[in-house]
Amino acid sequence: MGREHHARLRAATGATAFLALAFAFALLLLTSVPAGAGSDGSDRGDGSDGWRTAASRAVRAHEQARAQVDRLREADARPTRIKDAERRRKTLRSDLWDRLWAAERASGDPVAVDPSGRDGHCPFGNRSRPPATGDEQRTRPWTTPTRGYRLTAGYAAKGSRWAHRHTGQDFAVDSGTPVYAVGAGTVHATTCGDGFGNQVLIRHGDGYFTQYAHLSRIDVRKGTRVTAGQRIGLSGTSGNVTGPHLHFEVRITPYIGSAVAPLPWLRRKAVDATAAAP
Ligand SMILES: [Zn+2]
Repeated sequence: MGREHHARLRAATGATAFLALAFAFALLLLTSVPAGAGSDGSDRGDGSDGWRTAASRAVRAHEQARAQVDRLREADARPTRIKDAERRRKTLRSDLWDRLWAAERASGDPVAVDPSGRDGHCPFGNRSRPPATGDEQRTRPWTTPTRGYRLTAGYAAKGSRWAHRHTGQDFAVDSGTPVYAVGAGTVHATTCGDGFGNQVLIRHGDGYFTQYAHLSRIDVRKGTRVTAGQRIGLSGTSGNVTGPHLHFEVRITPYIGSAVAPLPWLRRKAVDATAAAP
């Protein structure tokens, strides 16, 4: 009797363990299948946000590959190892670009948008007040994004505030300094609430996007057509900053992770931002 009871107990314990295992496996399936499907299956058609997952995963993979190249360079690794890592990064970058374009087609919105920036809840101040006369600088087809600045953190600089490298150029100015569209274009988005604070994203005719971040005030709305040198807002300290400045970024797509070096890009537009600011 005693032995029989013991055996039954063992069988029961085994069954419980089996059930627990099966439950864990089912949970694993439940959590991994949608994420896996997002990498290709749900990119189009089914109305899910799979493209967003795929795009952010591609951005992350590329950032990691870039960090690996940086690490190897710093460690003075063998040139072949650096070359291999760089080749891997380039492959990931072309995948990233495909993903970013797919994401743009699917959303029409920047992936980086923080939900708090939607529905006009941003504390942008009174947008109805027209900019004071003299705020516009229409003399050239392209211009610097602000005036009277000091160049601080540059593109690809390293710092504790950025996960990897700085993605834009910082222009140190006092809070409340006018910020201008560097060229003609259309306001693609105005958002707030993430590390960039209040920000404006402009799409230009040449296919590039410029971003103006940490603003204290925004004077334009999504869809506003702007001219070169038109005031779009005022500089400030919103978002993740240590002092007042304008973070200016040039991107090949609306999305974070697709930035290019902004000062050479401006130079190609005959704007030398390193010259003494007027
Ligand atoms: Zn910055």
